[in-house]
Amino acid sequence: MTEPTLETISNLAKKRGFVFQSSEIYGGIRSAYDYGPLGVELLRNVKEEWWRTMVQLRDDIVGLDSAILQARQVWQASGHEEVFTDPLVECRNCNARHRLDKLEDPDTCPTCGKTGTFTEPKPFHLMFRTHMGPVDSDENLIYLRPETAQGIFTNFENIRRTNRLKLPFGIAQVGKSFRNEITPGQFVFRTREFEQMEMEFFVRSEEADEWFAYWQEERFNWYLGLGMTESNLRIRPHEADELSHYSVGTVDIEYRFPWDWDELEGIANRADFDLRQHAEHSGVDLRYYDQDTDERFFPYVIEPAAGATRTTFAFLIDAYVEEKVNDETRTVLRLHHRLAPYKVAILPLSKKEELIGPAERIASELRKRWMVELDVTQSIGRRYRRQDEIGTPFAVTVDFDTLEDDAVTVRDRDSMKQDRVSIDRLLEYLGERLG
Ligand code: ATP
Repeated sequence: MTEPTLETISNLAKKRGFVFQSSEIYGGIRSAYDYGPLGVELLRNVKEEWWRTMVQLRDDIVGLDSAILQARQVWQASGHEEVFTDPLVECRNCNARHRLDKLEDPDTCPTCGKTGTFTEPKPFHLMFRTHMGPVDSDENLIYLRPETAQGIFTNFENIRRTNRLKLPFGIAQVGKSFRNEITPGQFVFRTREFEQMEMEFFVRSEEADEWFAYWQEERFNWYLGLGMTESNLRIRPHEADELSHYSVGTVDIEYRFPWDWDELEGIANRADFDLRQHAEHSGVDLRYYDQDTDERFFPYVIEPAAGATRTTFAFLIDAYVEEKVNDETRTVLRLHHRLAPYKVAILPLSKKEELIGPAERIASELRKRWMVELDVTQSIGRRYRRQDEIGTPFAVTVDFDTLEDDAVTVRDRDSMKQDRVSIDRLLEYLGERLG
């Protein structure tokens, strides 16, 4: 079994309709991607699993969906307007631009291979700018949000008050963010438009270290619970010179991508930086009032910040397996059942009306509960191969015996074991396995 390359995964994603380049008919832009019929299901399932774990299954976290467009003051208070930059260098030989802190050798241009040709690093601003309203003036300048977190901080008091929340509590948000990255790349790993899943957990300062450790463990286990290979995951603490301007401690959860270890999620102790800044800049008192002790203070914040699109990509890579079956290579996506785009495929053995009828009836029954694909094209072997390649956990074959015994053959994606199951027990059979 060989490990998939970046190319293998991006080819599969294109071929099967997971991901397409944005504006592909015009040559494509490398900054953004479109999620096709399978990709959108996988991405939705990843976000849904995050939400289920972080919000639904807990009584100390609530959700939010804040606007992408926010007042410019938000980004002045958060420090982004001033310091949200990456160091940009340009090669004097080939004019390629690179992000200095991501270069393997900071003196050598990876594009032309020349050494000592870089200009002095310049801070490059990562926020997208636009204007609100009909006038393109400086007063109307606003930014597309580069993270979802600030919408949580600016709503801290609204949410605490309306939901009568007591420390410790968290606010979770999933949504689009935009960064004008110097070098987008590695397929959907780094794009200029992407989706994040972030949660801000507010705690008393003296409990911050404990919660910081707690969230590292919780988040690490989330990936494992969805089937990610443990040896492909690690937690890496940031060095002091890597820390963001707001952080007093950060670790990254990293995945072993085809090119190297790289970040899936950052978990930071943001101290009381954000609430304090917004209180100062807005003039609104954002301190928390503790009735029991009659104290007023800024809570500390522990933030697990993951990328939804990047994480989806990692799940895709991790699930990819090529194996030998009877001297043939079988490609299979061993996606966790909860993440698989389709849960069940219904495959009538022939296109004859007498088989299509029952197949359609079974499909419409199962659709009430799961995403189901009814596939009548091509040979049964090719259809199994397609379902393996898109990670469908179960394939249900309707054959001529079905007309006699009211039963179907259910094939398990991973073991390829087949069971004959009567149609009236099918829902129960699949329910026990899919949940
Ligand atoms: P990097 O150092 O890779 O630029 P970062 O440390 O600035 O990333 P954070 O600000 O911690 O990233 O963002 C939280 C998460 O959002 C990241 O772990 C990643 O999963 C996701 N993310 C950030 N930038 C991008 C991007 N350009 N494309 C896709 N996902 C991203």
